Parts: sequence; structure tokens; C-alpha cells
Amino acid sequence: MTTILKISAESLEALFAALGDSGRRILGPTETDGRVDLGEVQTPAQVADAHLQLTLSAKEAVFPRVERLLSYKTMPGKVELNDAEPDIQPTVLFGLRPCEASGFGSLDSVFNWDSRDKFFNARVEQMTVVGLSCTQADDACFCTSVGGGPGSTKGSDLLLTPLADGHYLVEILTAKGEEIQALAPHLFQPAVNEDKEALLAKLEPHFDREALTAKLPGLFTSELWAEQSLRCVGCGACAFVCPTCACFDIQEEADTKEGQRLRCWDSCGLRQFTLHASGHNPRSAQAERWRQRIYHKFSYFPQRFGEAMCVGCGKCTRACPVDMNLKEHLTQACGT
Ligand code: SF4
Ligand code: SF4
Repeated sequence: MTTILKISAESLEALFAALGDSGRRILGPTETDGRVDLGEVQTPAQVADAHLQLTLSAKEAVFPRVERLLSYKTMPGKVELNDAEPDIQPTVLFGLRPCEASGFGSLDSVFNWDSRDKFFNARVEQMTVVGLSCTQADDACFCTSVGGGPGSTKGSDLLLTPLADGHYLVEILTAKGEEIQALAPHLFQPAVNEDKEALLAKLEPHFDREALTAKLPGLFTSELWAEQSLRCVGCGACAFVCPTCACFDIQEEADTKEGQRLRCWDSCGLRQFTLHASGHNPRSAQAERWRQRIYHKFSYFPQRFGEAMCVGCGKCTRACPVDMNLKEHLTQACGT
């Protein structure tokens, strides 16, 4: 059951100190030259507060760009294998937007649907998410079209919503959230009659996600995907910034004596992703790769897991060098 309290902005300094004293690392949005990335912080003053979104996404906290899975050495007559043992610390992700926080649910489905991924789960177990509701949105945002919202609690252990009086409304949502509050209970006060909805960004839904999912099987051979993807240069930026994209490939780095096996981010938008050793490519055209991206997120994934593999954050649109606007493309598909 959710507990609702409030905390003053000044008290966050003491809360950060308590988190640090408890041995937790704090990662929060930090701004450098106009980019906002997740970085290690010790005080609230180091946390960026005017940004809309992280430039990349928080998925790196549980799914690094490159991860060593194992290493090996070859010796006369034998091979020595060593499992990677990554250094995973208790970590608080502070100030994640609700869309980012809910993206961890999609990653959890991917990394646990058939076997449980050891590295992903070890990081999730050590992670606490302190979300921060959105009071602004831009033209790329469409969280309300895919089941989310500017104050959605999904994926957060504790959600902060800025109040007009210099406090934050605090929703304590999970046992991990309760642990954070228990570190410094005197910093929290009762919250009475606060109207959270009135404080949030206003964002009308642009399309009906379930109707889109129902429609996509009938659009598989439509010219729409070629039309939409004509300007796509296949750079993969949309996937690398996405909180839910989880494509990876396995690379082997080795010489004759030793080597390591690495899991590296990849993207279904890249030509080489499906290129066979024979030279055949089952998705040889960019239109087929664009269609795959849309169908994976809005058809195949919802059929398997009941929700879209997209949180409507709009990062892909903001990152795209040729201005592909996912919200507009999906709205167009709904109307086709
Ligand atoms: S596809 Fe785009 S809008 Fe959807 S979660 Fe990924 S980056 Fe965000
Ligand atoms: S970022 Fe834009 S150009 Fe690059 S692959 Fe994605 S849609 Fe295509």
C-alpha cells in the first residue's frame, strides 16, 4: 500500500547524506555542456533540475553498453574459463522521469522471459528508483498514449512530485522505498490534501495503443513503412537512447592465448544486425528494419507481455538526425 508524505527541498541534503552513510551510491541527472546524463552525485545541488529528459537513458544502470560475460585463457591441453564478477554496488537512481522508471519493466521481461539473466538481476536487486514526476512535456512526449503518465508510479520505489511550496510530495511505493524513508524518518512530514494531478504536465493521448496493436498485423505489407523510413539513415541512435530497447550481440575479443566474451548494445535498425555469414540479409531494406522496430514494440511484445515495449519518452525522436517522429508515425499508422 502506498504511503503519502512530503519532504522539503532543503531536507534532501540530509537525505542524500543518509543515503551515502548507508553505503548507497547515488546516480542522478547531471548536466555538462547541455547534455544531461546519469552521473554519480553526493548532494542535491549536483542534480540537474531544469531538464526534460536524460539524453541517453537509465537502462545503462542495469544493462551496460558493453559487459564482459566471461574471460578465458588457453593453455597446453586445456582452456581456463572465468565467469565475470562485476562490481555491483547498492545504488539509488535519483530523479528518474516516470517513463524512464517504467522502462525497467520492459527490460525485466526481456532479461527474464526464458532464463534469468544473472548480471541484469544482480543490478536490479541492488537498485532503488526514486522517480520525479514531470511538470513539463514537449512535442516528442507521448507517455499517455502507451499507458503511462507524467506522474505514473510504475517502476519507482519512491516517487517525488514537486509542490508549489518548496516541498515534494512523496509516494512510498515499495519495500525499497520504505527502506529509504527509514534512513531518516524525521525528514518526512504528513501530506494533507495535496492535489498531485494539478501539479503534473498536461499531455493528452495521441493514439490508442491497443487499437494500434490490433491493427498492425493487417498493415504488414503496407507501403507505409517504406514511406516512413525513406529518410532513415539506419544510424541506430533511436535504439541506443531508448529505455526499453534491449538488442545486443555477443562479441569475442581474443588472441591465441586469451580472450573475453562481451555483450554489446546493438539495434535491429542496423543493417548488420540480421546479416548472415552467407551474405544474405532477411531484412535487407531499411523499410523492413523500421517495420521490425515498430512491430516488435507495438505488436509482438504486447502479444507476449501485454503491454507496449515503449514508454513514450520521445528520446528516439529527439535523438534522430533526420527528424523521424515516432509519435507522428504511430498516429499515422493508427489512421491508415
Ligand atoms: S521507442 Fe522512443 S518513445 Fe518509445 S521508449 Fe524507446 S525512445 Fe522512448
Ligand atoms: S535515429 Fe532516426 S535515422 Fe537513426 S536509425 Fe533511428 S529512425 Fe533511423
